[in-house]
Amino acid sequence: MSTDTFKALVVNQVEGQNKVSIEKWTDANLSEGDVLVDVEYSSFNYKDGLALAGLNSILRKFPIVPGIDYAGTVRSSENSKFKAGDKVILTGWGVGERWSGGFAQRARAKSEWLIKLPEGMTTKQAMAIGTAGLTAMLSVMALERYGITPNSDILVSGAAGGVGSVAVRLLSRKGYRVHALTGRPEQADFLKSLGATALVDRATMSAKGRPLQAEQWDGAIDVAGGEMLVNILASLRYGGAVAACGLAASLDLPATMFPFILRNIALLGVDSVMCPLEQRHEAWTRLNAELTEQDFAALTTEVELEAVPALAKDILAGQVRGRTVVKL
Ligand code: NDP
Repeated sequence: MSTDTFKALVVNQVEGQNKVSIEKWTDANLSEGDVLVDVEYSSFNYKDGLALAGLNSILRKFPIVPGIDYAGTVRSSENSKFKAGDKVILTGWGVGERWSGGFAQRARAKSEWLIKLPEGMTTKQAMAIGTAGLTAMLSVMALERYGITPNSDILVSGAAGGVGSVAVRLLSRKGYRVHALTGRPEQADFLKSLGATALVDRATMSAKGRPLQAEQWDGAIDVAGGEMLVNILASLRYGGAVAACGLAASLDLPATMFPFILRNIALLGVDSVMCPLEQRHEAWTRLNAELTEQDFAALTTEVELEAVPALAKDILAGQVRGRTVVKL
């Protein structure tokens, strides 16, 4: 095993508090696995914010390198599916939670977790998409599977955030009319540039509302949960569906049965962490085909590893726009 060192952002727990520092690690510090990867880019996701802030028990062992996704080049592999030089992507599977993750220049993974980088995509573009972008595509696919077709009205909550901004871009390009729900009116130009047809003020959907409201949307992608998701359920058109993937507002779902049994609507759960490989392959193939270099430029901010700790507060406060890639 190589003893050369590489840079790693490490969380230790000291007297019940998370302590974050940049350390020099060797391969011996990494989690178990059969593929060693030189990480080129990771990305900063909402779950990384929770992890660094010590919330929701995201981190399950210490010391650990957080970072729930990464893309890079295989350095060595004990599995015949991968060889040195292959470009790979990893998202989910508990990496950056139970196993050391993407905020380090090197990572060790189980081969069954890795996806080969789609032809023509760079590792930076892969992380401009990252877990949030993959989740946006999985949410779009969930609505499509349910039978929601373009030329219909789709509400996207948290529209200026990671999942939301990618979802707005994907849906508008497919010909859906996208209603971008945001708490940041100052991001109106950004959202319109991604193809949003109309903006919806977050405040109009955040408070407790009536169990059945005016029918406004054929479908929705919700990153918020809580009263927001309840209000979305209550304002879907007959036969509509919401793909629910997040809890940026709340873990709770204080809903009534009315929209389900009177309007025949559906609540579709979306998970990117344990999502089966076939669905991941389909999602990455589509992301590669449907997003352009201009999209990546519009959606992405790049930071160095040293900037990561400060991002936690920003993302939990809903202040991060689009996607943030971390260069290793
Ligand atoms: P971001 O922080 O980038 O985006 C979240 C956005 O939600 C914010 O930018 C803000 O957008 C909006 N928001 C913030 N607070 C509230 C609130 N109290 N009520 C309503 N909206 C709010 O995070 P991501 O896009 O990366 O993740 C969004 C959610 O999706 C998180 O809960 C995350 O855990 C979840 N997620 C789930 C995955 C899965 O596999 N199911 C995978 C990836 C993410 P604006 O200012 O435009 O209103």
